[in-house]
Amino acid sequence: MVNSIGRAVVQTSRRWPHKSPALSRLVENEKPPVIDKEHFQPLGTWSAEKLQSSQDKNPFMLTWDSGKARDSIPHISHGDGIYLVDVNGKKYVDWTSQAVCTNLGQTLPRTKVEAAAYQMQKLPFLYGAMGIPEVRTRLNQLMNEILPGDLCAAVFPSSGSEANEAGIMMARRYTGRDKIISLYRGYHGATSGALSATGDFRRWYGREQSSGFVKAFSPFQLFWQIGGETEDEKVQMCLNMLEEQILNEGPETIASVLIESVMGSAGCFVMPPGYMQGVRAICDKYGILLHCDEVMVGFGRTGKLFGFQHYDGVLPDIVSMAKGISASAVPLSMTACSKDILDHFDETPLGWGSTYQAHAVAMACAYENVKYLMEQNIVGRVQKLAPVFEENMAQLAATHPSIKQYRAIGLFGCFDVHDVDGSNPKLQHEAPTEAFLKYKRAYTENGLIGLHRYPHIHVAPPLIINENELNDGFNRHDNALDTLDEALGHELPDDSFTRTA
Ligand code: PLP
Repeated sequence: MVNSIGRAVVQTSRRWPHKSPALSRLVENEKPPVIDKEHFQPLGTWSAEKLQSSQDKNPFMLTWDSGKARDSIPHISHGDGIYLVDVNGKKYVDWTSQAVCTNLGQTLPRTKVEAAAYQMQKLPFLYGAMGIPEVRTRLNQLMNEILPGDLCAAVFPSSGSEANEAGIMMARRYTGRDKIISLYRGYHGATSGALSATGDFRRWYGREQSSGFVKAFSPFQLFWQIGGETEDEKVQMCLNMLEEQILNEGPETIASVLIESVMGSAGCFVMPPGYMQGVRAICDKYGILLHCDEVMVGFGRTGKLFGFQHYDGVLPDIVSMAKGISASAVPLSMTACSKDILDHFDETPLGWGSTYQAHAVAMACAYENVKYLMEQNIVGRVQKLAPVFEENMAQLAATHPSIKQYRAIGLFGCFDVHDVDGSNPKLQHEAPTEAFLKYKRAYTENGLIGLHRYPHIHVAPPLIINENELNDGFNRHDNALDTLDEALGHELPDDSFTRTA
């Protein structure tokens, strides 16, 4: 019976001759390339006018901004330490290390440049499974020497998003479970899994998300408060909430809890005392892996080599890192994991890869970068400057009525802006109001370049900044905040604090 129905369907389709549509709109897809002879002039020789006219004729897309915003972005000719210099010679402080990533500023250590050049000349590329360049072995060893506990370097993708994809795949295949719990307002990247794990507005762009991602509230709320009298009680409530959610989801379905060690783009939030220890304990109780996203804070930003080291006794099972590993001179990231997880994948494939994973030139650059961090004790330098940084943050928060509060750790800080009535002037996903646009113009005019996630204002200069440069940056920021105060209708501050720069 089933067979005869099957045959009938086939016969019916044969009796309905059908032709898919013929292409009626033939488009010329060959063109003799007409190449501007100016391309053959060396890089660095196009004038400001030439660059602008080329951009006008060849517009490109931005990513988190609509394309038209490109016209307000300066053309930068070169970098110099913590400064960026535009084609008209204006010098800007790189006030958030761009996307909290150019941790060594723009003047690279000679060893880094030479290592990249050496690798390019010697062996520019080797596909992961086809040969092992010397630098992979050396970088792997170096990473294992600086990673605490039994954490070991596993793979070296190109971006933070990919490092998270690899970590998510690791957790799922190691545990045989599907769900990933991550926090609202956290950011984990723009590829499918990482974006689905993201808890801020950027996740919405993707509409339908990949399945198996569950969001939990972080200990930081905008409009309500966790119950409890003391900090300890509040932390306990947050942990109870998380555990109850895990019980409702089914603990045996959850592969990992994915958390930024310090929530970065959400506004520089360090987890309250006891929280990460509690999360680790909940994970242990239910056989869930703890995955810390260190993409923004790893390699010294917060005054520890890794952000999770702020939480005594907490060792994650999986760690993803990027930005600071190469100080972003080349795209490279890393996913590290416990020895158990590494051993597990000795017997079975990870099931994640990309052509550029463990790119030889990128690894050479990162190898020298990390050695430089260690040799120059960049973490110690951050610790030493942190009090000056915080003093400046506190002072701006105290003198600018538009600033409600600040948070700071190491060389990473964030102001929260409020309206005259104390309310939040906008949510992160809302378009900036005229007041913020005015502020941004003042910020640029005062010679600052930075990342903007209003109502939060981040400060994260390159880790090689010195005290004078730091004070200079805060002076510029002070001036820009006058504009914000005024634009939001606050009274102008009485500026009594003087910096030495
Ligand atoms: N995770 C965190 C915490 C980040 O801050 C970012 C980027 O800012 C990412 C992941 C994504 O990294 P990438 O942009 O290199 O893909």
